[in-house]
Amino acid sequence: MLIIGGGIAGASTAYHLALHGHDVTLLERGDIASAASGVNAGAIGALGWGHTPDLEAHLTMGSLEIFQSLQLDLGYDIEFRQSGSLQVIHTAAQYAYTRDRVQTLQAEGKRVEFLSSREARGLEPELDPDLLGCMYMPLRAQADPKKATRALAAAASREGARMRTQYAVTSVTQRADDLYVVEAEHDTFIATHLIIAAGAWCAEVGVWLGVRIPIIPVRGQMWATEPLPPRVFQTIASAQSTMDWQHEPGNDADTPPQLTHRGPTRRTRHLYGRQTRDGSIIFGGDRQLVGYNTTPDPEGIEVNHTHAAEALPFLAFEAITRTWAGLMPFSLDGAPLIGAIPQRRHLHIVSGLASSGFGRGPMAGKLLAEALHTGTPLAVLAEADPARCVTTLG
Ligand SMILES: Cc1cc2nc3c(=O)[nH]c(=O)nc-3n(C[C@H](O)[C@H](O)[C@H](O)COP(=O)(O)OP(=O)(O)OC[C@H]3O[C@@H](n4cnc5c(N)ncnc54)[C@H](O)[C@@H]3O)c2cc1C
Repeated sequence: MLIIGGGIAGASTAYHLALHGHDVTLLERGDIASAASGVNAGAIGALGWGHTPDLEAHLTMGSLEIFQSLQLDLGYDIEFRQSGSLQVIHTAAQYAYTRDRVQTLQAEGKRVEFLSSREARGLEPELDPDLLGCMYMPLRAQADPKKATRALAAAASREGARMRTQYAVTSVTQRADDLYVVEAEHDTFIATHLIIAAGAWCAEVGVWLGVRIPIIPVRGQMWATEPLPPRVFQTIASAQSTMDWQHEPGNDADTPPQLTHRGPTRRTRHLYGRQTRDGSIIFGGDRQLVGYNTTPDPEGIEVNHTHAAEALPFLAFEAITRTWAGLMPFSLDGAPLIGAIPQRRHLHIVSGLASSGFGRGPMAGKLLAEALHTGTPLAVLAEADPARCVTTLG
């Protein structure tokens, strides 16, 4: 089986296929985790399995278990910490929205709590005392994205997968006998099964095979302070975008839901961040359609810095020492694509993990590997079925 893409989705798929005893080769054009999987914030979302676990619960809770196992059982230091997360509330409207949301999630059996500002400051002393409260998500966690993705790749190698870096795939064809011929810079590979895990570049691979894969690049950008003594303990988010996107997701035929901008115009402010083990405080939030441009937008960085300082006032006095950006693979309907692409035999995809693919990628790869190993579609993957949106190119 051959996998294109050495981000967290591809690395996890390789690891779990190898664990099932399959012969696996992964081709990555840069290093492992050289795209989104290496530059993300390292926030791991998890609200619990709930009373009736759906795909989201499987992806987040299953991934959480894989991260835990890498750190605690398999001997990889990925800087994993089950830190919990606080989503801060700035306005009366956000307060009312978050109270309802917490009640709904609790009724579903999810692990969330509504905290007063005072209670939240007991967990996170630097929070602004003027905040109106917080949603607390105790299962949420964090890890170093590069180390975690590379640990999955190393675990895959340990199980016998061939992980080939600096192998850019330049074309793919399928022969009459259904075998795939994959041309890479240094070599040609023949494979029985092809798995597309190429993140924001999946559509390009699809074109070689005559299919339209509706995944488009969305730029995410971040900033960091210099290393500071420990001051931020959870991952920190804000209720503003969650509430705005609930009222108006903003998607249409060419635009995925839950972006911060429409064209150059800002629709909302989004916020996520944490303090890394080296002491740097890192924050980000913007999600913008700008093609494959990975130059950070300074204006958006400043808006995000201000937003972060509204949660943690000391950040207003900390200079930004570094900015960066990466491309998130958003599907047009916002749901992941995990499973078989029906237009071609033995063609599969694991992508569309959007803005939370670090926290969901490990389980996405594991579920795809299970479906491939058993040869049976998994019921839990029904809502991620690529058949709903992949079309034949005319
Ligand atoms: C700034 C930022 C912050 C984020 N923060 C978070 C967060 O806190 N938590 C979270 O859960 N998610 C976060 N995300 C989202 C997350 O990073 C992505 O959803 C996830 O990394 C996608 O993983 P992937 O493996 O699908 O894609 P990628 O990591 O992009 O991997 C795809 C790989 O395919 C390779 N490739 C493409 N084409 C070819 C080819 N032709 N030949 C060979 N190789 C090829 C690329 O080089 C790349 O390495 C963030 C993203 C960004 C950009």
